[in-house]
Amino acid sequence: MTIQETQGFDIVVVGCGVAGLSAAVAAAEAGAKVAVLERTTYEERGGNTRYTEAYLRMKSEVELSHDFESLLLDNSGYYIEPELAASTVLDYENWSPIVRALAFTDPELISSFIDAVPAAVAWLKGHGVTFGEAGFYGLTPRPSPRIAVNGGGLQLVETMTARAEKLGVTFFYEVTARDLVRSEQGKVCGLIAKRKDNSPLRFDCGSVILACGGFQGNYEMVIRYIGPKGRYLRPVARGGYYNKGEGIEMALRAGAAPSGDYAEYHGQPVDPRSSASEALVMVYPYGVLINREGKRFINEAPGTIDAHYEETVRTIADQKKGIAFCILDDKINRIPNWRRCVRSDQPPETQPDVRALGRKLGFDGEAAERTIEEYNRACREGKFDPTTLDGLATVGLAPPKSNYAQPLDTPPFHAYPIISANTFTLGGVKVNVNAQVVDRDGEILPGLYAAGETMGFYYGRYAGATSVLRGAVFGRRAGEHACAQATGRGHR
Ligand SMILES: Cc1cc2nc3c(=O)[nH]c(=O)nc-3n(C[C@H](O)[C@H](O)[C@H](O)COP(=O)(O)OP(=O)(O)OC[C@H]3O[C@@H](n4cnc5c(N)ncnc54)[C@H](O)[C@@H]3O)c2cc1C
Repeated sequence: MTIQETQGFDIVVVGCGVAGLSAAVAAAEAGAKVAVLERTTYEERGGNTRYTEAYLRMKSEVELSHDFESLLLDNSGYYIEPELAASTVLDYENWSPIVRALAFTDPELISSFIDAVPAAVAWLKGHGVTFGEAGFYGLTPRPSPRIAVNGGGLQLVETMTARAEKLGVTFFYEVTARDLVRSEQGKVCGLIAKRKDNSPLRFDCGSVILACGGFQGNYEMVIRYIGPKGRYLRPVARGGYYNKGEGIEMALRAGAAPSGDYAEYHGQPVDPRSSASEALVMVYPYGVLINREGKRFINEAPGTIDAHYEETVRTIADQKKGIAFCILDDKINRIPNWRRCVRSDQPPETQPDVRALGRKLGFDGEAAERTIEEYNRACREGKFDPTTLDGLATVGLAPPKSNYAQPLDTPPFHAYPIISANTFTLGGVKVNVNAQVVDRDGEILPGLYAAGETMGFYYGRYAGATSVLRGAVFGRRAGEHACAQATGRGHR
């Protein structure tokens, strides 16, 4: 089969979520001829970005939330040798190859991200994206503020696509990137892709920007990296199914250093019976969580839901068949607006007793009844208040419940099944502050950039409401830098 060659582009961007569109617009603005390859149809384009409400961890358009930096620093890697960490006070050029390729998010990358956020927001605004108040899914206030893109990620995709088209960017839909082309000198100088009919396409260009998401849509990679519980993790929204990890795989094949937590993912608690996007079930702090054996396995309310749901859903994924059940009694209906905590389009299962719930949903109802009796005995008198951390805790129970512990004794009983959805994977490739991919010897892989989920950035817990900003900041930077390298114009 002959490969059709496509020439005349300075830059090829893979993917058209927030990272790819920011890269394409920034590069085209700076004067580059840009192609964007997207595996989906025009109607389905935009990956995860299309489905997010795009909350941003910011107080206002110009100010980050107080915990933005500390959360990133606290989740920037594991047990880094103090000497290696200390050496990052030197200029980047003087870092050892070990440090440059190390699996951690270096302080230089974090501070360059933070410094660039307000300007990136202003830049998006200049292109027609608008910002406003963030909605909320719970009853207790968030510990730190958010703003949001008006109209969510879908609006961002629509606005930035229109902008890119106006700037002369060429979009290739239903074209899937497969592999990088490298010159004899080792520079990335093109890309092999395939069309829907499987025919190959070759793009020759100055630089390639990989902005094609994580690997949450690739079952094999999820299990390979995250382990057996990966069997039960499904993407939280339709867009994630298209992120199959080719960008990460092709960069790793070219020698990129891995970065970001390959063993973890950003999880959310969802109702497996629902096909709704982000079918959240966040009501479990007001009841108990049991597994298929009818046993509790975690403190359901150790603090604010926002700070703890990630750990809870990962523990749910560790239970047998990766599922748990939130049991509530009818007192839940005394909480006004409790349904704000649920985005599943399925009603809870309702039965006169917990045994019957078990028969319906497939958990051990008799054991669950014993578990709830034990839990009820550990509850104490006190004021139940779902709108704050009420401190109403169990006594002498393992695991304890630290808030909202009132007995479940009022039939009928209600239950939601909960699994852990995979919002996005954390493992990706190492980049420097210009979003240039770094190889395992700590050298720049010339001609190759990564942005958004394709770059590895988070370890341990994901700092919520920072991923859209990561895509905008590093996508934009990749576009500007790649343009300067490819054409000699624009940013250096
Ligand atoms: C329901 C939901 C809610 C979220 N809420 C928030 C939030 O409130 N705040 C926040 O900051 N983050 C949130 N996130 C996370 C955030 O939306 C994403 O991490 C971010 O938008 C990812 O942007 P991206 O450009 O890196 O990838 P994506 O937006 O996923 O785009 C990747 C694109 O690449 C395409 N692609 C993949 N592989 C190939 C290939 N081989 N060839 C060609 N094209 C390819 C895909 O089709 C897709 O269009 C949420 C995510 C979801 C799903």
